[in-house]
Amino acid sequence: MQRQEFNQLLNDILKPHSIKDFCPNGLQVEGKNKIKKIVTGVTASQALIDAAIDEQADAILVHHGYFWKGESQPITGMKKRRIAALLANDINLFAYHLPLDIHPEIGNNAQLAKLLDIEIQTGLEPVANSVAMKGHLKTPLNGDEFAAKIAKMLNRAPLTSLVRTSKIHTIALCTGGGQGYIDLAAEQGIDAYLTGEASEQTIHSSREQNIDFFAAGHHATERYGIKALGELLAKEYGFEVNFIDIDNPV
Ligand SMILES: [Zn+2]
Repeated sequence: MQRQEFNQLLNDILKPHSIKDFCPNGLQVEGKNKIKKIVTGVTASQALIDAAIDEQADAILVHHGYFWKGESQPITGMKKRRIAALLANDINLFAYHLPLDIHPEIGNNAQLAKLLDIEIQTGLEPVANSVAMKGHLKTPLNGDEFAAKIAKMLNRAPLTSLVRTSKIHTIALCTGGGQGYIDLAAEQGIDAYLTGEASEQTIHSSREQNIDFFAAGHHATERYGIKALGELLAKEYGFEVNFIDIDNPV
């Protein structure tokens, strides 16, 4: 498929125009015109670029790309090395941030919920395109049981703050660095909050508002959206897609 046609296809699937974001969504670094072989991954790190070069990929498709609001603009150091490697190998870089978090089927939240048997009902924020979601566990579990389930499914033990004695029925979630939403979940009387990262203050929010908290890893909670997008591109459109997981303990 031609590059522009591929970009349009991704935009049709992920609808980035309706979402305010902190980075450009879509084609971030232009490479060759014809795209057949795609490497997907969570972050466009040097390790992922090197793996894509080894695979002779035409494009890299990620959740965390480049050119974030507030970052230093000059293309120097680490940023220069990454972009130079892409350009030297004529590899396209496509990135989708919030549109990939919130997509109702292949999004990070939707895919994580599916993996952990969470039924999503609606957005946590009272706005259209809420990034955080809320719903319930299909089978109520106590905090320890749910932590064990996360460890098993994500292959990584979560950091927890378990403050309740009864089972978790209702739960809110936001993949990645969504710890700031814990207070909104607590205000709404939700039993538990699940995200990728924790801050020092998150634990006090959990303890003082009686809400169980799980930080299951920014990287670990955001593997599944980009993986599902790649699987869709392979299945429905015949692309050769390889998801490469460059592990990250955070
Ligand atoms: Zn993220």
